[in-house]
Amino acid sequence: MEENSTQKHTNNHAIICPLHLQGHINPFTKLSLNLASKGVTVTFLIFEHVQQEITKASGCNSNNPFEALSQGSNLVGDIRYRVISDGLPLDYDRSGRLMEYLHWFMVGGLYDQVENAIGNIVLESRPKVNVLIFDTFYPWASKLAKRFGLRCASFWTEPATVFSLYYHVHLLRQHGHFDCPDNRKDPIDYIPGVNSIEPKDLISYLQDKDTSTNMHKLLFQAFQDVRLVDYVLCNTVQELEPHTISTLQTLLPFYPIGPILLSGPTKTRIPTSLWAESDCSEWLQSKSPGSVLYVSFGSLANFSKNDVMEIAYGLRDSHVDFIWVLRPRTVLDETSDVLPLGFEDEVRGRGTILPWTDQIMVLSHPATGGFLTHCGWNSILESIWYEVPMLCFPVFTDQITNRKLVVDDWNIGVNLCKESTIQRVEIAAQIKSFMNQKPREELKKNIRVKRNMLQNALEADGSSQKYVNKFIEELSK
Ligand code: UDP
Repeated sequence: MEENSTQKHTNNHAIICPLHLQGHINPFTKLSLNLASKGVTVTFLIFEHVQQEITKASGCNSNNPFEALSQGSNLVGDIRYRVISDGLPLDYDRSGRLMEYLHWFMVGGLYDQVENAIGNIVLESRPKVNVLIFDTFYPWASKLAKRFGLRCASFWTEPATVFSLYYHVHLLRQHGHFDCPDNRKDPIDYIPGVNSIEPKDLISYLQDKDTSTNMHKLLFQAFQDVRLVDYVLCNTVQELEPHTISTLQTLLPFYPIGPILLSGPTKTRIPTSLWAESDCSEWLQSKSPGSVLYVSFGSLANFSKNDVMEIAYGLRDSHVDFIWVLRPRTVLDETSDVLPLGFEDEVRGRGTILPWTDQIMVLSHPATGGFLTHCGWNSILESIWYEVPMLCFPVFTDQITNRKLVVDDWNIGVNLCKESTIQRVEIAAQIKSFMNQKPREELKKNIRVKRNMLQNALEADGSSQKYVNKFIEELSK
């Protein structure tokens, strides 16, 4: 599904709208390219505050960043770019005031903003818009599609296993594993398509005691709404989660079309990062193959200052070479330096600490031998794609369940810690043993098998390719 693959013009026109978060913007961008390369006209909706952050981070102020790929022979098709306001001031702190923002998202003014924009696009665009492809987290996507007489596809950017758990939250409630004064602790063996799972491996929101938050409300509403859509597209692969996917397919039109990864020229030419990327290629170049541990906890996870200290000391005492992405505001409310005094001097030459980087470049570099990850789903797919075994430290949301897939089910990664509390001695010992050649060889063998699955799914007769084609055929009917 490369963006220069054969283009056949269709009369389909999709309005595509990601969530405002990094882990959603990336796969939505690539999905747009995939569909456009197959002749679907795409209007990509992006919120002004997101556009502003991307522009600030990349220094690229284009009216349509997709055009950067259309130069030369690399035709990507017809992708239009529409910047809209979410109705709040640009400097409103959406992550700091998350629960308030979610209220705006669910029942506040966001719906009206998006409805207005879509109304205009529908009115003026040719070919006529026939489908909305919205992030599954938009709890009103089906209503919006109905309002304009359009079909609705929901794009789920996490694994099918996680989808099935949310989709069947009522069963967890009925059986007393969720939302009860005293949740059951025994394994859960009744979720369609999900093999027995321990309550500790459930998505963090399904382990919470307080289920009345706006986050929970949003999730419950979104998974009611997804029952009303025409298609669910998922960034996974049939062969990776066969039982879960085939079971879901008996319940709803579920299309596994992954892996949808930003890579190659797409990654370098279309700016999507919300933070400026620091270049560490020269530094990596100076390291021997497979010697560097890449450490990143993605775009959302927050830590206490103490946890950051323990990770820092663990890295220092492991004596391995590392790149650590320490995003701004990893420690919320912390304005001053969060690293131990003198840390950067102590690890100089051996470790480099960056606010953000080009993760694809790092993972694809021969010097990178391991990935200490929070288990975000994009990071897992990227790690499999570049055959980098994982050392897992999930923090919240789907990361908890994703860890189970990586470590317990697929054996392509190991746990960083036994408990959720982290201590420098354990971290240092685990990193040292992980980066030691022997155990990593076994993980690498397993990860190669998964990589082949992903690769095969993208071949002309591969499962994901067939599902994308089927989706487009369905739209044309
Ligand atoms: N990423 C990046 N540079 C970094 C860290 C992360 O480009 O320094 C990208 C990464 O490649 C992935 C996305 O940000 O595509 C993070 O998504 P993921 O689902 O892994 O985690 P989330 O941020 O949603 O928790």
